[in-house]
Amino acid sequence: MAQTTLTIGLAGNPNCGKTTMFNALTGAHQHVGNWPGVTVEKKSGKIIQGDLILDVVDLPGTYSLTAYSEEEKAARNFLTDDNPHVVINVLNADCLERNLYLAIQIMELGVPIVLALNMMDEVRKAGKDIDVPLLTRLMGCPAVETVARQGKGKRELLDEAIRVATTRNGSVEPLRISYGPDLDPVLAEMEGIITEAKLLAEKGPARWVGIKYLEGDPSVIRHGKEQNETVSNRLETMVAKVAQHLKATLSAAPESIIADYRYGYLAGIAKQVVRYPSINAERIRLSDRIDRVLTHQFAGPIVMGLIIYLLYTITFALGKFPMDGMEAVFSWLGDTVKAGMDDGLLRSLIVDGAIAGVGGVMGFVPLIMIMFFLLSALEDSGYVARMAYMLDRVFRIFGLHGTSVLPFIISGGIAGGCAVPGVMATRTLRSPKEKLATLLVAPFMTCGAKVPVFLMLAAAFFPGAEARVMTAVTLAAWAAAMLVAKLLRSTVVKGESTPFVMELPPYRMPTLRGLCIHTWERSWQYMRKAGTVILGISILLWAAMTFPSLPADQAKPFEDRIAAIQAQTPAKADEGAAPAKAQAANKAEDKAEAPESPQEQAVKAIEAEKAEAELLNSYAGRAGVAMQSVMAPAGFNWRVNISLLGGFAAKEVIVSTLGTAYSLGKIEAEESAPLSEKIANDDSFSMAAAIALIAFVILYAPCFVTIVAMSREVGWKWAAFAMGFNTALAYVVAVVIFQVSRLLI
Ligand code: GDP
Ligand code: MG
Repeated sequence: MAQTTLTIGLAGNPNCGKTTMFNALTGAHQHVGNWPGVTVEKKSGKIIQGDLILDVVDLPGTYSLTAYSEEEKAARNFLTDDNPHVVINVLNADCLERNLYLAIQIMELGVPIVLALNMMDEVRKAGKDIDVPLLTRLMGCPAVETVARQGKGKRELLDEAIRVATTRNGSVEPLRISYGPDLDPVLAEMEGIITEAKLLAEKGPARWVGIKYLEGDPSVIRHGKEQNETVSNRLETMVAKVAQHLKATLSAAPESIIADYRYGYLAGIAKQVVRYPSINAERIRLSDRIDRVLTHQFAGPIVMGLIIYLLYTITFALGKFPMDGMEAVFSWLGDTVKAGMDDGLLRSLIVDGAIAGVGGVMGFVPLIMIMFFLLSALEDSGYVARMAYMLDRVFRIFGLHGTSVLPFIISGGIAGGCAVPGVMATRTLRSPKEKLATLLVAPFMTCGAKVPVFLMLAAAFFPGAEARVMTAVTLAAWAAAMLVAKLLRSTVVKGESTPFVMELPPYRMPTLRGLCIHTWERSWQYMRKAGTVILGISILLWAAMTFPSLPADQAKPFEDRIAAIQAQTPAKADEGAAPAKAQAANKAEDKAEAPESPQEQAVKAIEAEKAEAELLNSYAGRAGVAMQSVMAPAGFNWRVNISLLGGFAAKEVIVSTLGTAYSLGKIEAEESAPLSEKIANDDSFSMAAAIALIAFVILYAPCFVTIVAMSREVGWKWAAFAMGFNTALAYVVAVVIFQVSRLLI
């Protein structure tokens, strides 16, 4: 009869009951020898079962596979060199969390594993219980309850081991857990290098080899050097670099970060699977005690609400001063250049294109720095993981992750945020799918630049109900984000929610130095990369709104009228020139510091009229007009179309462009009362159109700074997708809303 030999390793911490289990399984059929090269006793035994020969090997008891001690070396060499079909990891289930540490390392090696939850009698005696099916699901490997001393569960354990050994054939997909934002990218890069060089491929998976390099495993590094010195040196240089970085930021070595994340991962699992009927029996770690409050089912969300509120308020309250300062600097710069140059295209290019564009980008920098500083503090302390833990249930329904709440809030989940730091905050999400989905929908939130648009429309069509409109808009934005996230997660961003397991790393006191370094790195990235792209885009937008310039014959009437007014006496100006326009200008210039003479007002009115004509004649204006037939079903006129085009660059541009298009001259987004009036009186602009426009502005393409930030996070492809998809979605929704509300209103 054809016989198959299956090699089964028994691994576990010292004193977990491994030898007892080995004896229970193999009975008297034992063979004692030595592990090759070390003075550690090797015991093996044979079990014959039908046409299967099971070669069971009792590995030395170890806590890890780092190959420092003789025992660890023997155990590890068995796993990497002897290629067992399956490893039974015997665990003292009474200290599940600590015992699973070894299991993670075996799983990272891609060796099939079955967990023996030994000492279950003690677990029960302590009044605890373990949710085995849940543990199986979370760890992704079978687990069997055993009491080795009584031989309980050995049958099931062996059956499970045989099943895994025969179906898995000695290898499984290696476990991949996150080692945090500092190590993950380095590890990914190392993995690529190792895969390409096939370094130590016969020992274990590339990622495992990378982890061993990060841990400074002497034997792996030695073997790596022997195999390919160049690649090995390159890896060691990378490790040295990240080690230095970690020392500066977290004052920790890579191996301790790795251990932290493993324990965090396991703490998350243990928290879910171990049930404590009475808590006093348990040793309470400080982290656990803090968690008892911070993740308490009632107190937890309240504390979290407060922390989010604080994060938000501090970011935007503190950010206001440097932002205003930046704005002042750039507007001073603009004014200075304006004063120093003659009117003309070059001046317009520098002032309205370059300075305004770069100023817009730099304006975000203080906000980003403050936000990242606070966010790094929350992240480094370990609190973000707790937030995720609490919110995960709700967000999971929509295919998101508990941590998604941060990017949402920052992007304007509480009206007035900004999607740029919001998108960058998605870095706290470790699963790429959920990060992507969060990042794609975060820009729906009501950022500070969209607020004036909504307020202006509210003032025009729902006067007195501005607060209610803003509340409705904010809620609509959340609803849209959730629903679209669900839609994306079941279509283009399909895939299992990866971290079904919450990682709960121990609390750590963040260091000021570490926070400053993290903050600076992230802000500098933004300034360098966004700055260059945005400069180009602002110049493009400027060109689109400037060229082609108004032909001389069309510009002349305006100039003639201005010349006529300037030639007249002040008394005649009022009724003489253009009374209707003068009235409009009156409103627009209400807030002007010095009262202007009627002449000046009339001149300004004509200039505003000319600006409208210039805009209409420009490429952007022509596009707005050309889009009329497309946008009409959503209720938008050409003026709205142009301003929405401008909104692709920055949402602030919407109100100011509408101002120009309604010949109000240059208006500030915050002082839109005259615009509201104009729009309310515009017959081509209905309440239905206003509601459709609100929906469109919530949904359509994020501003360009956000797009750039997105592309930094997930690549140009997805950033382009966000532009296209969001705009298409916005269009469809706006059309539906306009058509339906036209019937109802
Ligand atoms: P090893 O170091 O992993 O080989 O552990 P041993 O097999 O030598 O067992 C260590 C101790 O735990 C011994 O005193 C065993 O009798 C005891 N032991 C093993 N399994 C169990 C079990 O399931 N329940 C209890 N209560 N004790 C056990
Ligand atoms: Mg033993």
